[in-house]
Amino acid sequence: MRIALFGPPGAGKGTQAKRLAQAHGLTHLSTGDLFRTAIRERTPLGTRVSELLEAGELVSDDVTNGIVADRLETLAHGDFVLDGYPRTVPQAEWILAHLADAGAPLDAVVSLRVPDEAVVQRLSRRRTDPETGAIYHLDFNPPPADLDADALVHRPDDEPDAIRHRLEVYHQETAPVEAFLREHVRYFEVDGTGTLDEVQGRISGVLAKDRGLAGI
Ligand code: ADP
Ligand code: ADP
Repeated sequence: MRIALFGPPGAGKGTQAKRLAQAHGLTHLSTGDLFRTAIRERTPLGTRVSELLEAGELVSDDVTNGIVADRLETLAHGDFVLDGYPRTVPQAEWILAHLADAGAPLDAVVSLRVPDEAVVQRLSRRRTDPETGAIYHLDFNPPPADLDADALVHRPDDEPDAIRHRLEVYHQETAPVEAFLREHVRYFEVDGTGTLDEVQGRISGVLAKDRGLAGI
């Protein structure tokens, strides 16, 4: 199964992508994680994108498509869940064409709908573990008590100004990307509010109904 999760920052894409990956043996491919790893490792790519990430601006389509192409090559067209990609029309055009050319087209896009107020509430209390990649929320998905709180990161782009800017960028890009995806690939909208388990159940439900996929 090759799917993509779409939705605003803080919609729960990373959280649900990890759950889907674990439950169904998919590779989780997050462009945000790839950029953050590059920044942490101080690679040339990291140097190039670090200010953009901090300010909540999008990285260029060429650079973003390039890192996705590299990762897909190492995956040899196995099953995957894309998280936070595609986010613009040129990215969507490129990835659909690239996968179709490889004879391994994208099966579906699942869009998580979450209102802006909930996004702000989620992102302002998000904490991540850079070692394990785990995503927590201080109230809704708290880290285990025995975890060293100093090991957790509050992302610089989860500060109020950057959150507001990322939401603006998302709303500017959304309508055209959504229209493009609806026309070219199976596209499902799922209510992203409620508990983590409830959202996972809804995603699995639409995928199972659409694909008749065993075990989903
Ligand atoms: P995204 O990848 O879309 O930016 P994340 O998966 O990182 O979103 O989730 C953003 C924040 O919201 C995290 O702190 C996460 O723990 C929390 N979160 C995820 N899903 C839910 C949910 N269903 N209800 C409440 N909080 C959630
Ligand atoms: P979120 O879903 O919470 O916004 P991500 O981890 O997906 O977080 O993205 C973090 C940042 O990485 C984005 O604000 C942007 O700077 C960059 N980024 C991630 N994915 C893309 C993409 N597909 N195109 C351009 N920039 C991206």
